[in-house]
Amino acid sequence: MRRPRAIVALVAIALSSLAAALLIGCGASASTSTSGKPVIVVTTPVLGAVVEQVVGEQADVQVLMPNGADPHEWRPSAQDVAALDHADLIVESGLDLESGLSTAIAQAHDDGVPVFAATDHVPVRHVGAGEGGSSSAADHQAGAADPHFWTDPLAMRQVVLALPAAVRSATGLDVQADAVAEAARLMRLDREVGAITATVPAGRHDIITGHESLGYFADRYGFRVIGAVTPSLSTGAEASASHVADLATAARAHQACVVFGEVGTPAPVTEAVASEAGARVVELSTHALPASGGYDAFITGIARAIADGLGQCA
Ligand SMILES: [Zn+2]
Repeated sequence: MRRPRAIVALVAIALSSLAAALLIGCGASASTSTSGKPVIVVTTPVLGAVVEQVVGEQADVQVLMPNGADPHEWRPSAQDVAALDHADLIVESGLDLESGLSTAIAQAHDDGVPVFAATDHVPVRHVGAGEGGSSSAADHQAGAADPHFWTDPLAMRQVVLALPAAVRSATGLDVQADAVAEAARLMRLDREVGAITATVPAGRHDIITGHESLGYFADRYGFRVIGAVTPSLSTGAEASASHVADLATAARAHQACVVFGEVGTPAPVTEAVASEAGARVVELSTHALPASGGYDAFITGIARAIADGLGQCA
């Protein structure tokens, strides 16, 4: 017996409609873990690496920014905004580091997604009076809060110890034991970084960076940031010709033989400062993970690059 063609067609239409409805349903919850695990969306790769260490396989950790992106300037796609809105927990650095994400994170928070800001859990460093030098950047006035906490492993440890309560409240998961183990690892890492930076010769601890990104690192390991090519806590500000000249003068006065370049700082300006100061440029990866390795490789990489660079000064 042959089925009437009309019925076959109707069944086909009904099935395709059902398939389309299922696809739309999947699309609407695209950021939900396919494994059924709770989803934790982290803004930056460096912070994401540490969150992954703590939660392990228990949650699906999604990092929004591609490794190597400038977090100060990065803007989310519609898909990224949807991922934030569907997260069980958002983990951000805070203090306006992710300025391009602030509206999307605030919206997700308004929609009921809990937000854990790492910088709520560290002793925040502030720009000291007079540190701004010739800077006119709004975020570099005395008292401005510095978001670059991740350059200090012990500040990161504070974040790790605060994370379990937020994870438990948002997802019901218990990651306390993993956090305690990670915190102990960060204590050992701090000693390792201390040993690397201890090799820097006496009197060579004044450093110049791309933007003011290493204040926490400097405070922890006995360095002093005497200036930045982009005189700002973010990368958006511009260096004037007079700032370049002032910085070169400061470099010579402090016998700083290296200018540390980094993401978001125009290479020609970094080169100009180095050239005027008779210094070399050494690139630092202050906002991105190394090609292989996590937070340990990240922070020891910075320490080695600084120690090697300063160690070669005459
Ligand atoms: Zn920065």
